[in-house]
Amino acid sequence: PVRVRFAPSPTGSLHLGGLRTALFNYLIARKTGGSFVLRIEDTDRKRHVPGAVENILTCLQWAGLDFDEGPGKDSPYGPFYQSERTELYRNYALKLIKERLAYRCFCTPERLNRVREIAQKSGTTVLYDRHCLSIDSAAIEENLAIGMPHTIRLKTPEGAIKFNDLIYGLIEVSDKNIDDAILLKSDGYPTYHLANVVDDHLMKITHVLRGEEWLPSTPKHIILYKSLGWEPPQFVHLPLLLNSDKTKLSKRSGNVRVEDFVRNGYLPEAVLNFVAFLGWCPPDNDKEIFTLGELILEFSPDQIGHSGATLLISKLDWMNKAHLKRKMGSTEGLKELVKSLKPLIQEKFSDELTTRGESWKLDNEYLSKVILTIGDRTRKISDIPELCGYFFISPDYDSSDSLALRAKIGENNLRIVTKAVAYCLKDLNTDERNNLDSLKLCIDNVVRETGKKRDEVLMALRYILTGIKIGAGVAETMCTLGNKTYMERINFFVN
Ligand code: GLU
Repeated sequence: PVRVRFAPSPTGSLHLGGLRTALFNYLIARKTGGSFVLRIEDTDRKRHVPGAVENILTCLQWAGLDFDEGPGKDSPYGPFYQSERTELYRNYALKLIKERLAYRCFCTPERLNRVREIAQKSGTTVLYDRHCLSIDSAAIEENLAIGMPHTIRLKTPEGAIKFNDLIYGLIEVSDKNIDDAILLKSDGYPTYHLANVVDDHLMKITHVLRGEEWLPSTPKHIILYKSLGWEPPQFVHLPLLLNSDKTKLSKRSGNVRVEDFVRNGYLPEAVLNFVAFLGWCPPDNDKEIFTLGELILEFSPDQIGHSGATLLISKLDWMNKAHLKRKMGSTEGLKELVKSLKPLIQEKFSDELTTRGESWKLDNEYLSKVILTIGDRTRKISDIPELCGYFFISPDYDSSDSLALRAKIGENNLRIVTKAVAYCLKDLNTDERNNLDSLKLCIDNVVRETGKKRDEVLMALRYILTGIKIGAGVAETMCTLGNKTYMERINFFVN
């Protein structure tokens, strides 16, 4: 059975690269009926950031990438925090020493620095000079007896290391370029290399999908597998992520934390769709919008490319808009959108509404109407409170933008349109006043009545209803606001 894992280190907030790794692993597991394991690689105590694990868990949950085994889940393969497995790693390191496949290194950081400097000066690959490989056992016992700090290093065997990567093909590295990797640090904690390999083996991982930045570490891992007498998994290294200027994406590039996309109102479907395309390309080149379910069906690791994948946020915006539209089309989807809009409206307008004393317009039916009216014109649901506040509170006609628009329309035009619309609405009965088709006809009448250009009339009407220049159709806006509210706004201009 296929077993894959996402193995983040809790060194900060989850970023898009991590989400992509998690997604690709998840897709393979779901596609093959395998297991998706979450393992927290927290043995680097210096780089541990409080709250990072919670952040990773929340982001995965938001994205809907549920894991089968991991923290908080029962499994024979746990625990899933590496910090709870240190004894295990230590024992394997000691076993390797016994078999002379690893050795203790008592070199001080100062000595290691000197070795590095010398190598750098002579332009050779910086490798540990194996000073401690040849110290005799009596000296080792002495050092241990006085508790001298030391590390345990893996002995790189002679001969080239070869392995196959699904994306990068056959890779061959000369042993002359492979350092004797530290397995156990002087604080007794394992390094990434040791813990990662031991766990991938014990957790029966079949495929390792991870970022390309780990490719240089893989030869060391292969040596470890061999030294421990284990079969390595299939490696699948995912192409590097690049900023739009082709520089390497890093946590410092800004705008890459998943939590920021959550806060900025992007749909999980859109963000997943977006990261899926960072390196993956579907066989049908024209299709670009995928739900998670469709990704499971269509994803295959064979279609992952190896050239760097560029991050274009404009693409995400476009995808978000497409997913928004798609969700608006189903009852279930619309319900979800309402659920995410509600707290945003509450947060944005609570103060204003208490001071203005207007009634809340937060029932689900009204919120769905608003989304259906304006949703296909917004990029994100979270734009609605910002750009379409007039659905919830009276327009702020005194804002500078509003005043400028009013000046552009002209007082005379405004008066004529106000009068005409009030007049034409008089002919409609209560039902018609809340009926889209009747309102459309009514607006035609207003245009006729004023004898003005349609665009001019619409601009004035939209200003009266919303205080701004762009929005959904005027009749649609009226229909959603409802007769009572739009009449209040029109009457405000009747003098
Ligand atoms: N802990 C590593 C990371 O933070 C895992 C790399 C791997 O998947 O092997 O990315």
